[in-house]
Amino acid sequence: MIGPQLSTSFLLLGLIDLLLPLLTWVVLVRLRSPVVALWCLGSLLGAGSLLLAALGGVLPGWILSYGVNLLDFAGTLCVIQALRLDQMVPWRLRWLAVATLGYLLVYELTRQLQGHLSLRLAFVPLVSLVLLLQVVGWAWRIARQQQSKGAMAIAGTHLLLAASMLYVLVELLLPRGGAATCPRDSSALADVMGLLAELASDVGFIGLALERSIRKWQEAAASQARLEERQSLGNQLAHLDRQRGFGLVAASLAHELNQPLTAILASAQTARRGAVAGRLDSAQSLELLEKIIVNTRRLSGITGRIRSFIRPGHLEPGPVDLEKITREMLELVEPDLRRHGIQVAFPAGAEPVVVQGDAIQLSQVVLNVLRNAIEAVQLVPDRVIQIQLTRSAGVAALKIRDSGRGLDPGLADRAGTPYFTTKPDGLGLGLSIATAILHQHQGSLVLRNAVGGGACVDIRLPLLAEGAMP
Ligand code: ADP
Repeated sequence: MIGPQLSTSFLLLGLIDLLLPLLTWVVLVRLRSPVVALWCLGSLLGAGSLLLAALGGVLPGWILSYGVNLLDFAGTLCVIQALRLDQMVPWRLRWLAVATLGYLLVYELTRQLQGHLSLRLAFVPLVSLVLLLQVVGWAWRIARQQQSKGAMAIAGTHLLLAASMLYVLVELLLPRGGAATCPRDSSALADVMGLLAELASDVGFIGLALERSIRKWQEAAASQARLEERQSLGNQLAHLDRQRGFGLVAASLAHELNQPLTAILASAQTARRGAVAGRLDSAQSLELLEKIIVNTRRLSGITGRIRSFIRPGHLEPGPVDLEKITREMLELVEPDLRRHGIQVAFPAGAEPVVVQGDAIQLSQVVLNVLRNAIEAVQLVPDRVIQIQLTRSAGVAALKIRDSGRGLDPGLADRAGTPYFTTKPDGLGLGLSIATAILHQHQGSLVLRNAVGGGACVDIRLPLLAEGAMP
């Protein structure tokens, strides 16, 4: 039995001890981890055992001795199980039940052994010592593995506890005054140590969980930074490719710009000549001014398209009409098509084919494929590009087929891998950039030889749901 003063302080410390697992649970509840739940349950059972010991006077002796020891044993088992679960090597529930039952049986047996007092008294601290050493071992393993100060605190406090338990055992088995009695001082010391260890190890456990959360957060932040860096590099590469792609059609576009510019100049000169000679009536002036306005609009249309296509940019996702951007890209390469006598067949679709994505990047995909087709057909006399846009089962399919020579069978599976090119001035990046852009849009690109000759590029993208269309 413990004295009234000791009992009151046990009660107080037991109550504090009861609060700590609850506090731990509240702090860590959002982790929703079975490890945390087991740990808190173990601490609660430990605190329950202390409270029971403090209330000892009001309970019958056998309930007290069984209750205190069982709660303590089960509590430490839960703590060990929490640490083992953390390391993914939990004990089976069946084993835990058998161990608890065995513990109770042996405990009862020692109670019956009237003549072997030291054995009877030594059983509980001996089992506690073994369990505490288990806690020390697992906590130490976690501390070393994860460089965790929290786990180190758990190992340290339980080591102290094990030392005090060893002291109790030595006092019991090697009594200074001869026969073994219940060494009240040393068991009180073990109980107080137990309380302090519980407090310190709960704090250690919160520390361990917080360290982990911080580490996870740091790792997530680092991987997000890496992702953003990759994305930004990808965007820069795509932007450079757009500039290069534009560079390839720039010569023809310069010619295209020349037409409206020449028309504007001619209208302005005619107007000036008429004005100087005094032969310009208002109807003629209006007609010339109208021509200047129309051609200036044509000019600004061309420059606007160029500017928006090559602008460096962050992604601006939104609904993209595939037919519209394909026709815009055809307009961009129009001078090339004309110069090389290339026929384009692109029947108007019955209904719009709209996908979700960045219009500029998807335009870049179409331009890359068109550029390859234009270059391919230049090698043959019969120059045709057929474009087909269809929608079925939630997928948009854009097929661009050319009448070129197609892919060399020996090299077909290398086309589209970075830096593979069969052109003297090629970079071998156009298709890989197009594929990367399509992957970002959950789409795909397949280049293969078409039946009947030439190559065919098959672009697939998820269709935008009807309800999400503008
Ligand atoms: P580049 O055009 O700079 O070579 P791409 O990645 O766009 O880079 O193309 C890689 C290679 O794929 C080309 O060099 C060519 O061999 C092959 N290829 C692409 N499109 C076609 C096509 N329409 N017809 C035949 N070969 C093609």
